[in-house]
Amino acid sequence: MSNSTDELFKNVISHCKEYGFVFQSSEIYDGLSAVYDYGQNGAELKNNIKTYWWKAMVQLNENIVGLDAAIFMHPKVWEASGHVAGFADPMIDNKDSNKRYRADQLLEDKVTSLMSKAVDDAKTKGIATYYEDGFVPSMPDIAKEQALQDFLFQNEDYKKGYELMGKVNNCLLNDDLPGLRDLIIEYDIKDPISGTANWTDVRQFNLMFSTQMGALAEESDVVYLRPETAQGIFVNYLNVQKSGRMKIPFGIAQIGKAFRNEVIARQFIIRMREFEQMEMQFFVRPGTQKEWFEHWKQARLKWHLALGTSPAKYRFHEHTKLAHYADAAFDIEYEFPFGFKEVEGIHSRTDFDLSQHQKYSGKKLQYFDPEINQNYVPYVIETSIGLDRMFLLTMINAYEEEDLSTEERQDSRVVLRLHPCLAPVKAAIFPLTKKDGLPEKAREIMDKLKVDYNLQYEEKDTIGKRYRRQDAIGTPFCITVDHQTLEDNTVTIRHRDTMEQERVNADDLDKIIGNLVSWRNVL
Ligand code: ATP
Repeated sequence: MSNSTDELFKNVISHCKEYGFVFQSSEIYDGLSAVYDYGQNGAELKNNIKTYWWKAMVQLNENIVGLDAAIFMHPKVWEASGHVAGFADPMIDNKDSNKRYRADQLLEDKVTSLMSKAVDDAKTKGIATYYEDGFVPSMPDIAKEQALQDFLFQNEDYKKGYELMGKVNNCLLNDDLPGLRDLIIEYDIKDPISGTANWTDVRQFNLMFSTQMGALAEESDVVYLRPETAQGIFVNYLNVQKSGRMKIPFGIAQIGKAFRNEVIARQFIIRMREFEQMEMQFFVRPGTQKEWFEHWKQARLKWHLALGTSPAKYRFHEHTKLAHYADAAFDIEYEFPFGFKEVEGIHSRTDFDLSQHQKYSGKKLQYFDPEINQNYVPYVIETSIGLDRMFLLTMINAYEEEDLSTEERQDSRVVLRLHPCLAPVKAAIFPLTKKDGLPEKAREIMDKLKVDYNLQYEEKDTIGKRYRRQDAIGTPFCITVDHQTLEDNTVTIRHRDTMEQERVNADDLDKIIGNLVSWRNVL
């Protein structure tokens, strides 16, 4: 049993490997850092998360359509978007350990350590249950928040941490790299490996991967692997608007790979160098961005909560340092075993991207709004969720080591309490034994259902062991075919969560499974 959050996280990672959810990339060559492959169950779960998102965003919104843009884009795209000049992290090296760190993260860790005692005290006293300074709970309670702030600011270290946070944000806003270094020295931040403060200057490190396009080196052009999917949507804005006769407000949604040469890759699939995003850009009339921003903030949180996750596990985090393109930004954060981390960003991107592309391409990217008889460059609200982080969230939230011991004997199981809509395998079909025509009957039942549902057939080992294997991958139903089935066409259904069994007619299976795994349950 996991008795600490650290252990829980480790156990989930090994579970991901043992049951075919996530493998390290090129593992037989000792792996490639921060790159992962999804196994047989992982690929199914990932596809189901994508389907949930696509249905919620595209299928259920008449004014949102999909797109599948290429990963390679014209190099000018990344100049226009600001990524060539500005998509960089401030890095600092320790001269004794030769290790490289993100300067802002070293400082943020210091802020957290200064604030942690007061926050822990607040938690112990029941003043703060799951949120800290600077963060907005998904269900805010203003009075409680004020009481929390009053309590926290009585602590001197907390005040220092808060002050430091302000200084760091200031440096980041003004691209003040020497300022960041000065803070690292002033707050006596040491390298955890060498234990020294022998630091280099802070330098910017661009996160985009580049490669060459064209057969011959001389004629080749540098192209980038896209660091976000959003730009594929912006450069196609006019194509989609015109060919789809879209009227503002409307959205374009896309799921696809993105690549970032993250300097410090950590926490499993939280920070990868190749990952997948599900992004939607919603084009609106200038001046209406605030109300649409609020709409999408709430709509996206609702999407997360519909899966049955406790609201206490989620919170909004408002950005104080806004990206160059944004006029408002909130993250939806989930409480992972190692703390709250961003899963999704909701950004009000103004008309920055379309205006930039208009400028760099020389093509007009405007909309004629018949309602107000005006041409304008639309404003954009973006919702951007990391599929891999959503995947990890789903695994962690579903993973349970359940003690099933009775007075007579010790017993336990690992069960993935995945929402049935997301479960990789919807039902497993077992013949009780390998003889007497039971396998044939089980296969006959399976053949009728497998076009509609992803099923698994298993005849090896005892039924108990087969149940455990299916529990571990989150299969909601196990269906057992026994001798009675041959007589009256009934089977036993065993439910994953309650472990209860019932006898039903095999002809009703389609309806029973269909009801439980229907997308209607979450949409
Ligand atoms: P972070 O601050 O954690 O680096 P970000 O603010 O740079 O994230 P965005 O550019 O807003 O992230 O990207 C949108 C979403 O893409 C994030 O909410 C996250 O879920 C996901 N994401 C970003 N970078 C990575 C990565 N390296 N690996 C996996 N997912 C990522």
